[in-house]
Amino acid sequence: MNKSLLKSSLRRLYRSLVNFRHIELDSKQLEGSAIIFAPHQDDETLGCGGTIIRKKQAGADLKIVFMTDGSSSHSLIDSQELKAIRREEALAAAKKLGVEPWDVIFLEVKDGKLSNNIMPTIQRVSNIIIDFLPQEIFIPYGEDGPPDHNVTNHIVIAALKKCEFSATIYEYPIWFWNHWPWTQGTSKEKNLLSFFKSNLIPELNLQKEFRTSVYIGDVLERKQAALNEHKSQFSELIPHPHWWTLQRVSQGEFLECFLQNYELFCQYKIRGI
Ligand SMILES: [Zn+2]
Repeated sequence: MNKSLLKSSLRRLYRSLVNFRHIELDSKQLEGSAIIFAPHQDDETLGCGGTIIRKKQAGADLKIVFMTDGSSSHSLIDSQELKAIRREEALAAAKKLGVEPWDVIFLEVKDGKLSNNIMPTIQRVSNIIIDFLPQEIFIPYGEDGPPDHNVTNHIVIAALKKCEFSATIYEYPIWFWNHWPWTQGTSKEKNLLSFFKSNLIPELNLQKEFRTSVYIGDVLERKQAALNEHKSQFSELIPHPHWWTLQRVSQGEFLECFLQNYELFCQYKIRGI
């Protein structure tokens, strides 16, 4: 067995072992109404697509809120054109997940600039929460990595506190997955200390924080179909060697993290005053 095959086999073994440690939500627990907040058009499907499908099957009322307009993912295309494309892709993906267009909200903050619009966005998110009064809120992990992801978390938590609203929070990882052993890790690690910092510490946090799971093994095909609707992120809209796709991240291992039998969440409650 060659070295890379051995490594990927060990990774697969590790993944199957850690899946036993999670507390799995049952069908009854999936009935709660929820708002899924996504920084960009694809994060909702990557992080919670299977859970959205299962919650809709359980009869839950859901809304998806996109924080940014997604217009900065590719520089090879006009940003206004990309914004329109990603909006259509998001609606098509939502449809595949079982969410109708009228339950999808676009806040259209400029992609990459959420941190420049914190206060007005807290107000807009508060208004949405008060209008819908969800039992559950889905947000990216607060230390997911990209600024729009971390700031989405902070804005929604601040909005909940502002309107003194109680809800169960489910934080989902996206870019936080991109560390060893889930992927080969980044290629920047030059020594053992930096490898430890950028892989083992995140992994210990992942195991400590993400203890709630939703089984999505029976809806994986539908999740994949929804992902396929985000064509700008998965295929070269303009044939060009620099057109970035999600398949290229960590040689495809990053994408594999979202097509496992379980979606993982860090679950906790926020209580209004
Ligand atoms: Zn994103």
